[in-house]
Amino acid sequence: MTISGITIKHFAYCPQIVRLESMGFAERVSEAMIEGERVEKDKVMNFLYATLRPLNIIGKPIFRYKDLIGSPDYVLTYPNYWVPLDVKSGRKRYDHKLQMKYYLYLMDMNGINVKEGLIYYVSLKEIVRLNYNYAERRYVEGVLSKIREAMNGRVKVVQDARKCYNCGFYTFCRPKIKGNLAYVD
Ligand code: SF4
Repeated sequence: MTISGITIKHFAYCPQIVRLESMGFAERVSEAMIEGERVEKDKVMNFLYATLRPLNIIGKPIFRYKDLIGSPDYVLTYPNYWVPLDVKSGRKRYDHKLQMKYYLYLMDMNGINVKEGLIYYVSLKEIVRLNYNYAERRYVEGVLSKIREAMNGRVKVVQDARKCYNCGFYTFCRPKIKGNLAYVD
C-alpha cells in the first residue's frame, strides 16, 4: 500500500488511523475542512518571492520513491539546493513538522540537495524552519517502519480521549474509553 503525505499527517495524529485506512475506511471531508485549506495563492507567491528570494518556485511537484509519494505545496529553487514549503491557512499548530520531514526525505531519496524545509502559517505571518540532516533521514525511516507495522495491524494506542472525540474516524474505530483516556489494542 502506498504511503503519502496524508498517511504521514494521519500517523502523526494517531497510528490507528493508518490501520483503519489500510482496511478501507475513509474520513468524511466536510465543506468546512475544504474551505479551511484554501489560501490566496497570489498573495503567498508575492510574499515568498519578496522574503525568501528563490530563483524559481515550483507549485505542487510530485515526488516518488519506491512505495512512497508526496507533494509539498511549493518547492523553492536556489543555485545549489531546493527547499520544500507547505502553506497552512489555519491558526492552530497541528504537528505539520513530520509531514515536512517526510517531503525532505523523499526529495533526498530523489538525489536532490535539501538542507531545510519551511512551513508558512499565513494568518500568523510566521515561517517555521526545519533542518534536514542524516539524523532526520534516519528518524523518517523509523517512522516509516512504524507506519508499515500499523498498516499490518500492529497498533497500540493510549491517549487523551479528547483526541478521539475530535477524530473523523471515531465511528469506525470505537476505542475503549476509561475516564480521560482512550485505548486501542
Ligand atoms: S478514534 Fe481515537 S484511537 Fe481511533 S483513530 Fe481516532 S484518534 Fe485514533
